[in-house]
Amino acid sequence: MSTKTILVLPGDGIGQEIIAEARKVLAWAGKRVDLNIVEGLIGGTAYDLTGTPLPEETVIQGKEAHAVLLGAVGGTQWESLDYSVRPERGLLGIRKELGLYCNLRPAKVYPQLADASTLKKEVVSGIDIMVVRELSSGIYFGEPKGIETLPNGQRRGFNTLTYTTSEIERIAVRAFETARKRQKRVCSVDKANVLECTELWRQVVTEVHAKSYPDIELSHMYVDNAAMQLIRNPKQFDVIVTTNMFGDILSDAASMLTGSIGMLQSASLGDKCALYEPIHGSAPDIAGKGLANPLATILSVAMMFRHSLDMPQEAQMVEEAVSAVLDQGLRTADIAMAGEPTIGTAAMGDAVVAALS
Ligand code: NAD
Repeated sequence: MSTKTILVLPGDGIGQEIIAEARKVLAWAGKRVDLNIVEGLIGGTAYDLTGTPLPEETVIQGKEAHAVLLGAVGGTQWESLDYSVRPERGLLGIRKELGLYCNLRPAKVYPQLADASTLKKEVVSGIDIMVVRELSSGIYFGEPKGIETLPNGQRRGFNTLTYTTSEIERIAVRAFETARKRQKRVCSVDKANVLECTELWRQVVTEVHAKSYPDIELSHMYVDNAAMQLIRNPKQFDVIVTTNMFGDILSDAASMLTGSIGMLQSASLGDKCALYEPIHGSAPDIAGKGLANPLATILSVAMMFRHSLDMPQEAQMVEEAVSAVLDQGLRTADIAMAGEPTIGTAAMGDAVVAALS
């Protein structure tokens, strides 16, 4: 049995706390499979220690690992830093360095938590959406970008939305392949009525579909309508494929359908590397208090077992353990109904490990 190396990057804020719980699950898995857990630096913590939010060592460790598990980055103490060294640059940087162009963000409602959503139970019960977000191009990376001062003294901010055909093709393929293992429906979200770049997006997605995926049902939707439909009738969606910025926004909206951002895992995949992380940030408002929900991170571990480490059985066991603790009525504050008793981060991690054992 070959050793599988996992690079763990706790990062900042609650990242440290939730990764501590994920490591308990990794320790459980390490009794079944030979795992080599390596820890590295990223984000504000890395900046404080090394002067950069993404040390070269972290990039090397990431490229050598079978998979990377990340907590979260960011915090108010680093907000006055220059953009180039802010914690979030570490995250964008590692995605770029590892060639991670495909972000998978599932939004699934656990029946036990259907009441925790801000939407009506009948609207959200049974939701099972996969958002496939392009991650390494689009307006977050396009050049030129910046803030300049014009001759008339006004300042002008600008970013560039850009996609090449190959960038669109590879994310479309990922979306259609993902749909094949699900309900075989893809909705491509763009703004082709006003943005030329996403007119190309629509053309290329349509071409990839016609060429190789006739068994998948393809529809197109403008992003403003998609935002509205996600709230109106989310069950109409199976796989949503979209650009970097639209995916960033829509997947956060989709996450709230499920009740809490603290329940949602994600995978960022490239052709060689993969990184797994909860979709939430470092939650400075609750950091250090032992209140954070570790389940999104623990579910990210399950996703990592399935997609990168060829451990589908362990993945399923972890998912079932999460479901079991919810069945037991255990709740962190973010998923508790008003008046319901709550437990802290470590107790939730311990409960998952107990359910696994
Ligand atoms: P956030 O996701 O950190 O927090 C939003 C809200 O959700 C907060 O009220 C927080 O307490 C709550 N929350 C988040 N995760 C939770 C969990 N596991 N359990 C319980 N409650 C949870 O978003 P934000 O406040 O907009 O950003 C805070 C910092 O995180 C910023 O510096 C931002 O740049 C960074 N950020 C990082 C990532 C990442 O590392 N992937 C993603 C988003 C934001």
